[in-house]
Amino acid sequence: MDFQFSEQQEMLRATVREFVERECPKSLVRKWDEEHSFPPQVFEKLKSLGVMGIITPAEYGGTGGSILDYTIVCEELSRSGFWGLASYFNAVIMYGADMIYHCGNEEQKRYFLPRLCRGELLFAYGITEPDSGSDAAAARTSAVEQGDHYVLNGTKMFITLADKADYTITLARTNKDVSKHKGLSLFIVDTKSDGYSARPLKKMGGFTDTTCEVVFDNVKVPKANVLGGPEAVNRGWQLLISTLETEHLEVAANSLGYAQAAFDDSLQYAKERNAFDQPIGKFQAISHMLAEMAVDLHLARLCVYHLAWLRDADKPCYRESCMAKLVATECWTNMAHRAMQIFGGYSLMYEYDAQRYLRDSYILLIGGGTRQIQKNMIAKSLGL
Ligand SMILES: Cc1cc2nc3c(=O)[nH]c(=O)nc-3n(C[C@H](O)[C@H](O)[C@H](O)COP(=O)(O)OP(=O)(O)OC[C@H]3O[C@@H](n4cnc5c(N)ncnc54)[C@H](O)[C@@H]3O)c2cc1C
Repeated sequence: MDFQFSEQQEMLRATVREFVERECPKSLVRKWDEEHSFPPQVFEKLKSLGVMGIITPAEYGGTGGSILDYTIVCEELSRSGFWGLASYFNAVIMYGADMIYHCGNEEQKRYFLPRLCRGELLFAYGITEPDSGSDAAAARTSAVEQGDHYVLNGTKMFITLADKADYTITLARTNKDVSKHKGLSLFIVDTKSDGYSARPLKKMGGFTDTTCEVVFDNVKVPKANVLGGPEAVNRGWQLLISTLETEHLEVAANSLGYAQAAFDDSLQYAKERNAFDQPIGKFQAISHMLAEMAVDLHLARLCVYHLAWLRDADKPCYRESCMAKLVATECWTNMAHRAMQIFGGYSLMYEYDAQRYLRDSYILLIGGGTRQIQKNMIAKSLGL
């Protein structure tokens, strides 16, 4: 067994880490969070690192990197604790490039992928609805065939960056007369279409991106924009499931980076903050907490990189993807809860980051499938 990263992978990690440290210092991350703003100039500079085409093959304009490369980038982008950076990145890579590459037909790949690799397009992912989240296949948004179009009506809920995206991949019902998983299709909806509107919702964390309610009011979508082409009509659920492992990996790798940020801050603070004439890290209660945090991080890292390895080796990894999502997202939340204790009263203050880590961590704990749903899927894979 080889746990060694290659020289190129170490270089990739160092490049992204250096970029994040230079462009996203903690003082600015706090400012962007407080202002609920995202700095477009930082994203423009990120594009110039060439990472937008990281998992897209060269024939479609990408650099044809491995899933492991992608995982390294996801982890490092989160290391500053800057929520929006990884979120915008994934709007290009996960909801754009990965969805189009794995689910699109040749025409769609040729049209969208080179633009995505240049970072010219943002995608949103419209699955959840007001009445169906975990039970996503119960979606009610309808798509009715009309000449050379489908007409979409319905509402999506909690859709990341749906107000900023150029396209929203949208799950809609194309056949009501079959069982719920069999009558769904995915559409590439141009967000400039008449009848499409996205309203950002107020939330408790993740202030540097947006989470939206999206209304489809007679939105006309050309048949050419059925994801996967005409033969993919009513196969939307199968296509969605085929991308779940990468989505779990992305969420888990981001969580790992954020958890590392919370750990690093906590360790440093425990060494610097004095009480009763000694650093608080000398108290066993605090040092054991940090020891447990280090163990949790190590376990999450093993799960995440093992999953990346399985994906690259093209081995079945559905169960491991649920495990990695569960372990890494819980790791981040637990890390943030402990950081709150270690920072004491300062943990609640906006000039420190513990409160932000805690607020943001709940998003990935829920988004992409709650812990209960991950456990259901793991249990099912065990034959239960
Ligand atoms: C900030 C944010 C961003 C998001 N971004 C997106 C996005 O870009 N695109 C998108 O499509 N969605 C997005 N989501 C939605 C997210 O994926 C859903 O919120 C999540 O899947 C849970 O669905 P729900 O909120 O409807 O909760 P529900 O499904 O109503 O669940 C409520 C509770 O019941 C539990 N529960 C439900 N069913 C079961 C079961 N079978 N067994 C055990 N427990 C169960 C859940 O675990 C949970 O604890 C986002 C959510 C948030 C908060």
